[in-house]
Formats: sequence, structure tokens, C-alpha cells
Amino acid sequence: MTEDERFKVYINSLDRENPLWLEELETDARRECIPIIRRETQSLLRVLLAMRRPEKILEIGTAIGFSALFMSQYAPPDCHITTIEKYEKRIPAARENFRKAGREDRITLLEGDACRILPELMESYDFIFMDGAKGQYIHFLPEVLRLLGENGILVSDNVLQDGELIQSRFAVTRRNRTIHERMREYLYELKHNEALETVILTLGDGTAVSVRKQV
Ligand code: SAM
Repeated sequence: MTEDERFKVYINSLDRENPLWLEELETDARRECIPIIRRETQSLLRVLLAMRRPEKILEIGTAIGFSALFMSQYAPPDCHITTIEKYEKRIPAARENFRKAGREDRITLLEGDACRILPELMESYDFIFMDGAKGQYIHFLPEVLRLLGENGILVSDNVLQDGELIQSRFAVTRRNRTIHERMREYLYELKHNEALETVILTLGDGTAVSVRKQV
């Protein structure tokens, strides 16, 4: 184990467990190889949700609803979450998980491609969790910025692709090369956009936290 891995294991071992129903959902998801937020990302989200106390959250990439349910657990009780998923096979599972957790009234699942759905949204959100297809983050950004309210927080997950992002371009496949180029463009934009203040963390698979500044 590398030193970094030992730190990760130690830090994760300090975490307080989630409620049993969330732990079980996480175990099921991992057993079925459904990509859900890592423990380190969970920890970060808990802190950010406690700091910002959002009333409205938007998530891009529901999968089977783990992170939406996780956020509903740690956001204020009156917070509403809107989450977008396009993969038809995962949508019924997400709906069933929301129903089983008794959170259907607090989580709205919008079915379809975020590219189509985002321009239709008219509300402003104080917390946006970007966790869809990595190569599309840069395309989603203009709509996400339109929807992110002042002092709103944007959390972008998996932005360093487990370190692949800084590998030589010859060491990665052509498809991943395109995704990495787009991700680098996205990170550059997050760091240079005048409306945002952003930190890129080597946490989990790489997580960027941005705040929309007051004008
Ligand atoms: N946030 C989830 C969690 O932690 O429980 C995991 C999301 S998973 C990493 C990414 C999900 O985004 C996949 O289920 C995928 O189908 C969905 N997705 C990818 N591109 C999308 C798009 N353009 N519109 C809507 N959903 C998308």
C-alpha cells in the first residue's frame, strides 16, 4: 500500500457511518458495480451541505439514487433535490430506492439527457452536484452557471480520473484522450471563470469545489 492509500484508509476509518439503510444501499450498489460516490466524497459533501445548508440541490447523474438519498440525509429537511438520469435501466431502480426511503416528496427525478433537460430548467439552485458523463461537463457548464445562484456551490466529481488526466497523452486510449482534453478544458474554465472561485482537490477520484461569487 502506498502512503497515500494508507492515509485514505485511516481517514475513512474515522468516518461516522451512514444510517443502516444508506449503508445497505451503498453495499448493494458496489456489489452490482454501479459507480457511486466514494467515502471521501461523501465526507466532503457532508461538510459542504452543513456549511451551505441548501434549499435546492440539482444533481446531474442519478444512477440508482445513492448520492441523491445521501444528500437528502445531510441537507436540511426542507431541501428539495432535483436529479437527472438518462440511463433507462437505472431509472426504475432509483425511483424504487426513493420510494423505499420515503423520500419521493423530497427528490424529483427528471428522466433524459441533461443536455436537453438543463436548458428547460428555470429555477435557481444553491448547490449543484455534477456527476454525469465526464466528457460532457464542459458542455453542461454554461447551463450550470445560469442555474447556480449567488453563493451557490458547484461540486464536480471524478475530475482527475484517478490520475489519468496527467498521464502522457500516448498512454491513454483515443476515447479517453478526448475525455481528458475536455476535462482539462473544464478545469481551466472553473479556475479562470470570473464568476467562480474554485479549488481542485485530489480527493476521491478528484473533486472540484466552486463557489459562485457575489457580484
Ligand atoms: N451520482 C451517482 C451516485 O453517486 O450515486 C452516480 C452517478 S454515475 C457516476 C453517472 C450517471 O450519470 C450514470 O448513471 C449515467 O447514466 C448518468 N449520465 C451520464 N451522462 C448523462 C447525461 N448526459 N444526462 C443524464 N445522465 C447522464
